Amino acid sequence: MEDVVVIGGGAGGLNAALTLCRVRRRVLVVDSGEPRNAPAERVHGFVSRDGTPPAELLAAGRAEVERHGGRFADGEVRTIRRRDGVFAVELADRVVSARRVVVATGLRDELPGVPGLRERWGRDVLHCPFCHGYEVRDQPLGVMGGLRASVHQALLLRQLSDDVVIFAEEVDDRDRARLAARGVRIVRAAIAGLDVEDDALRGVRLADGTVVARSALFVPAPPVPNDALLAGLGCERDGDGLVRVDGNGLTSVPGVWAVGNVVDPRAQVVVAAGAGAKAAIAVNADLMEEELVEERAA
Ligand SMILES: Cc1cc2nc3c(=O)[nH]c(=O)nc-3n(C[C@H](O)[C@H](O)[C@H](O)COP(=O)(O)OP(=O)(O)OC[C@H]3O[C@@H](n4cnc5c(N)ncnc54)[C@H](O)[C@@H]3O)c2cc1C
Repeated sequence: MEDVVVIGGGAGGLNAALTLCRVRRRVLVVDSGEPRNAPAERVHGFVSRDGTPPAELLAAGRAEVERHGGRFADGEVRTIRRRDGVFAVELADRVVSARRVVVATGLRDELPGVPGLRERWGRDVLHCPFCHGYEVRDQPLGVMGGLRASVHQALLLRQLSDDVVIFAEEVDDRDRARLAARGVRIVRAAIAGLDVEDDALRGVRLADGTVVARSALFVPAPPVPNDALLAGLGCERDGDGLVRVDGNGLTSVPGVWAVGNVVDPRAQVVVAAGAGAKAAIAVNADLMEEELVEERAA
């Protein structure tokens, strides 16, 4: 029996595992190996780790967990069932029993259906000015419009470049005034494709064939949390449709914690890692209380 099975070996899951292993909990991490930021060359905005390749960061985290006695299983968790206070975690080749579970399965970015976006995602088609804006500072930047967040991004990106264009078929009067005030150019057309040369974005192609030269494009990609395991356990959702957790990541189902992008789509790597640490401390306290009841009864 594991004390804790952590599902997902990204920043959130690894930090939860490390913290639990450091108080000598028996921990298994199950990971299917597809962290959200894998397409990016480097991780930014994580103090002391800025510029580290994502795979290198995770490999270092895995090594730290292993050094403290944590174990890993590569693969996907299919279901989690709770029976008599014990969790049955189903992998492809076995079922693992656990006293508690921490779900840190991340999310999928739903890219708009413009050809070529997926291939350049995380390189010069970007999602977040805080993660990758600094690397494209002072360059001609584009923002794909359509969501309110796009206007916000365009306004923000003007802090990084004097040349920012938002591509949007419709912009209301209020947004037009805000964009004009900050010097963001509006192109009133939808994006039909990308102009790529020598494996680099050169411009954004409109439906009439016009190419607007840009060297990076920021794209709104609605997040889809990988929360099927939590739904299967009956975890409640909040008004935004996200699985509801308390300040330590505890869901509405006793014994089930969830951290990182699966419950907080805006969490950056450092935030997901922090949530993992917080949850781990709460999980340990919960286990300890259970043990005390048994110890006092003995
Ligand atoms: C292109 C791109 C670049 C980014 N760059 C940055 C950056 O520079 N700085 C920054 O702070 N943030 C960046 N982010 C955001 C960053 O990816 C997230 O903050 C971070 O990945 C969240 O960590 P997590 O542990 O919640 O999820 P993830 O890192 O996505 O890890 C989830 C893990 O769970 C696994 N998993 C999923 N389902 C299952 C299952 N059923 N069974 C077993 N395993 C499962 C997945 O394979 C994955 O390994 C970027 C995002 C994108 C899209």
